[in-house]
Parts: sequence; structure tokens; C-alpha cells
Amino acid sequence: MPVFTKQEIVEACRDKPLLIEITDLDPLIKLDIRYATKNNFLKRPVYKEARAFLQKEAAEALVKISKDLNKEGYGLLVFDGYRPWSTTKIFWDETPSEKRNFVADPKVGSNHNRGCAVDLTLYELKSGKEIKMPCEYDTFSEEAFPSHAGSTKEEKANRDFLIKVMEKDGDFKVHPNEWWHYDYKDCNKYPVLNLTFDEITNEP
Ligand SMILES: [Zn+2]
Repeated sequence: MPVFTKQEIVEACRDKPLLIEITDLDPLIKLDIRYATKNNFLKRPVYKEARAFLQKEAAEALVKISKDLNKEGYGLLVFDGYRPWSTTKIFWDETPSEKRNFVADPKVGSNHNRGCAVDLTLYELKSGKEIKMPCEYDTFSEEAFPSHAGSTKEEKANRDFLIKVMEKDGDFKVHPNEWWHYDYKDCNKYPVLNLTFDEITNEP
């Protein structure tokens, strides 16, 4: 079981691009950081702040997608980006074994822990309203699968549009079990991290 000390994390970060706050790059990327609220599968906040960070390259690739989407009248609504390893451990410990295909094993770590995965959906620029998808974020059932055939024609078309837009440049790939989760192409070159949001912005 990897347990990372602060020193190890600082060392691991030394030669790597830093985690940066997505909204600093693009104010039209909206946030709905569910884990900073009770509106998540644990029904309690696990983050102290509603903020979203990604590795610089991943953040820049996301901003490019966001700007392309803006031209079509849509924006990105982010549910989660970088996630400390300790949060992944909480998710695993509190998820029943039959639902663990929807959470990352802390023995391996999640791409969210590397700052290379983002959970998101679409909103309409004009109204600011979230676009309807086949199921809610963090629905731990088959409706979450990107290939799921159920739900309405409109919801499926919206989901397929999101996946197409996210994958078009080859920078992100949708998770096989979750329509909202996208992994950046170079995830493995970044280490699993356990920094809090506060520690990211206050590094010495
Ligand atoms: Zn995710």
C-alpha cells in the first residue's frame, strides 16, 4: 500500500509540470465540485474547497476543447479534477465490493491522483443550464457506461457529443464505465500525489 510522505511528494513534483487551477486559464469552464458538497455518493463533503486542478499539459488541452465548444454555444462543467490519494482511499473503503469497478483501487492510485483525469459534463452557454445526460454524475450503474443503449435519444446524443468533443484531438479518452470521466493521454508520467488543494497553492 503506497503511503506518500510530504517530502516524497515534493521530490516527485520537482521536475514535473505543476498542478494548476483550471478556472485560472479559462473562466468559461464552470465548476460543480460535488465532493466539496453533500451532493455526492458519500453524502458528505470530502473536500474543504470547491476547486479543480490538473497537470499543466492536461489543463491546456482541456482549455482548447472548452474554447472550441464555446463556439458551438456550450461550455464545460467540471465535477472533479486532481484528487488527493487519501480521498481515493476513502472512496474505496466506503464503496461496497460489487460497486468497486466505479472507484480506483488505492493500491494503484487513480489518474485523478496524478492530476490527469477530469470528470465533467456540458452546459449551455446562453442559459448556464447543465445539458441532460443518460444519468447523473457518479451513478454507479450501467447507465453510466459510455456505450449504454438505454435512456432517451436526446440524452444519448448529448453524451455521444461530449465524448466526441473530448476525444477529437486525441488528448483525452473516456473511461469505459463512466461517460463523465476523461483520462489525459500521458497519465503515467505523473506520480500519484496526496497534496491538499491548499498545499498545491502554498508550496515552498
Ligand atoms: Zn473520474
